[in-house]
Amino acid sequence: MPGTERTRVRRKAKRGSLDTELIYSILDEALFCHVGFIDEGGYPVVIPTIHARQGNTLYLHGSPASHMLRTLATGAEVCVTVTLLDALVLARSVFNHSMNYRSVVIFGTPRLVEGDEKLTALQAVTDHTVPGRWDDARQPSESELNATTVVAIPLDEASAKVRNGPVVDDDEDYSLPIWAGLIPVSTVYREPVPDERLHPGVATPGYVENYRRG
Ligand SMILES: Cc1cc2nc3c(=O)[nH]c(=O)nc-3n(C[C@H](O)[C@H](O)[C@H](O)COP(=O)(O)OP(=O)(O)OC[C@H]3O[C@@H](n4cnc5c(N)ncnc54)[C@H](O)[C@@H]3O)c2cc1C
Repeated sequence: MPGTERTRVRRKAKRGSLDTELIYSILDEALFCHVGFIDEGGYPVVIPTIHARQGNTLYLHGSPASHMLRTLATGAEVCVTVTLLDALVLARSVFNHSMNYRSVVIFGTPRLVEGDEKLTALQAVTDHTVPGRWDDARQPSESELNATTVVAIPLDEASAKVRNGPVVDDDEDYSLPIWAGLIPVSTVYREPVPDERLHPGVATPGYVENYRRG
């Protein structure tokens, strides 16, 4: 990823990275992002939303009536962020407490997606959330497609930042009788709950069973 003045990580710069594969892997693991933009009234707004990556493109989707989608469809500049939390870092001093994380910040100008690419993008969004779901579920009708706006953001200006490691305390603090260490954090899927109106005899798909297995 080419660096720009905006994507140069300044604080703890060695944790910053422009590695495209790292950026992609964080975007692919995260289930949603936060989209920051300036609305028509001139106010900054940050909205959580689902995303999906296809190659060098990030797709967002939603109702044409959505404030965010309406603004983005006009090509308003955005800043999109994604964060994966990996651990709480408990140091001996309050000052050195931290978190292990992997995060991405993207700057870009969205474009409205139409035609075949719109369907590809919606498939990417669906399968990014639940891999294998698109082929199993009913495909969108013409009116459902018209009731969905999709925008694409090129992944040309993005950075990753990663903290991954043990507690780092000041030398004089290591002798203190205070517990220190990592508390790992992860997203856990629980037992799937079949819908009350499930058609009798519908088998649980393998991709749903996968969640049960963890
Ligand atoms: C995990 C997650 C995934 C989502 N995925 C999508 C998606 O793929 N597509 C999509 O269109 N929407 C998604 N949403 C909903 C999205 O966050 C907005 O609520 C939605 O776009 C509605 O926009 P709006 O134009 O009605 O509201 P806006 O006019 O944008 O918002 C008006 C005001 O409502 C409040 N508000 C709006 N949304 C939220 C919120 N999420 N939390 C708290 N306050 C809020 C804020 O004060 C905001 O200023 C998702 C939300 C979450 C949490």
